Amino acid sequence: MTLGALPQTVEVRTLAARAVTLAGLVDPSRLGRLNAAIIGMQGPVEVIAEFYRDEEGRYVVSMQVSAQVLVTCQRCLSSLEQPVASTTLLAAVWTDEQAGQLPPRYEPLVADAEIELWEVVEDELLLALPSFNYHSDMNCGAETGVQAVGEQGETIAQGNPEQDNPFSVLKALKGDTDS
Ligand SMILES: [Zn+2]
Repeated sequence: MTLGALPQTVEVRTLAARAVTLAGLVDPSRLGRLNAAIIGMQGPVEVIAEFYRDEEGRYVVSMQVSAQVLVTCQRCLSSLEQPVASTTLLAAVWTDEQAGQLPPRYEPLVADAEIELWEVVEDELLLALPSFNYHSDMNCGAETGVQAVGEQGETIAQGNPEQDNPFSVLKALKGDTDS
């Protein structure tokens, strides 16, 4: 099945009242805030949004988002492909006060009539993005070789712990002045 584009704006309460499920794609080039946080994206963002009313009559949406993003490996500084996925339960509220009264399983979605669905998707991806990204050890440093140098440095430091210790230098200087 080929997914079409996800609607950019939706009326969350109308869709929830009708128990609509939307499945679609978001063009990653339209997500400016996300693009600023990553190197790039591999393919579109896939979204499944189930709108329904819960037992207490809330208008809710269960949203699954997934994407493949390219981020910088913090160890070797080359790019790495990172899957990002999240599932979130959002409940439509009118005010911040109502948002504060939601059960903890819900994230508030402050909305009058229409919501910017793409922005909600972008928020979820930004939240799901890991703060630190690393290659698995086998691939790390394959492009730049930075990792190999780092490992050697650690080995030397372990062999001669005094060499990397700034206090040992101070101690040596102090010893010189005393003698
Ligand atoms: Zn790496």
